[in-house]
Amino acid sequence: MSQGKEMSQGLVLALSKGRIFDQTLPLLREAGIQVAEDPEVSRKLILATNRPDLRIIIVRASDVPTYVQYGAADFGVAGKDVLQEHGNTGLYQPIDLHIAKCRLSVAVRKDFDYANAIRQGARLRVASKYVQVAREHFAKKGVHVDMIKLYGSMELAPLVGLADVIVDLVDTGNTLRANGLVEVEQIQDITSRLIVNQASMKLKHRQLQPVLHAFKDASSAHNCQDEAL
Ligand code: AMP
Repeated sequence: MSQGKEMSQGLVLALSKGRIFDQTLPLLREAGIQVAEDPEVSRKLILATNRPDLRIIIVRASDVPTYVQYGAADFGVAGKDVLQEHGNTGLYQPIDLHIAKCRLSVAVRKDFDYANAIRQGARLRVASKYVQVAREHFAKKGVHVDMIKLYGSMELAPLVGLADVIVDLVDTGNTLRANGLVEVEQIQDITSRLIVNQASMKLKHRQLQPVLHAFKDASSAHNCQDEAL
């Protein structure tokens, strides 16, 4: 049997490397699921687990909702930041896992007069990966923005004159400090969510339900209030 065929019969979980993978592992462990390999070491994109019917695929964080939406993965873990940009089409979002916590913030160069720059009717050059959320945030303030879409190293943009402000994820604040930037506004708190393909939720309900419940139990230690599964 081909690997694609085998995968369509079992469950496929989409994760991204780094924070989300590292912080999902303990939840998987509490659900009795052990991952056979470390993707940072093995470089494999399909990882086996101790459960023959469950595999993990490693994809870019912003691609997790796409894999789940199209059913290439039955479920996945994605940040609220990524989900807001992607939209909810084809996705069921039952659990806030309270992992990969950070905030989406506005940051500027230390010497930039932000209060003056956001006067009603002002015009601001904003660099971000999160163009929808950033646009909405400044629209509410009546600030006109020229959005500059970037895919990484946002902190560089104000330093080289590409933008006045950035909208980016901040955790410890170390990256901003190291680059002479300051956080001037927090737009929202971000955590990662479990998302499920809507068709899988119906067709693989019997297989999925125990895993989803185990995730829910493991994450309830973090005081979450979720929809009923
Ligand atoms: P920090 O220096 O700890 O404030 O982290 C900031 C850097 O890490 C920025 O480049 C962010 O884009 C990235 N970052 C922080 N938290 C997260 C997260 N939960 N998910 C993805 N990227 C993050």
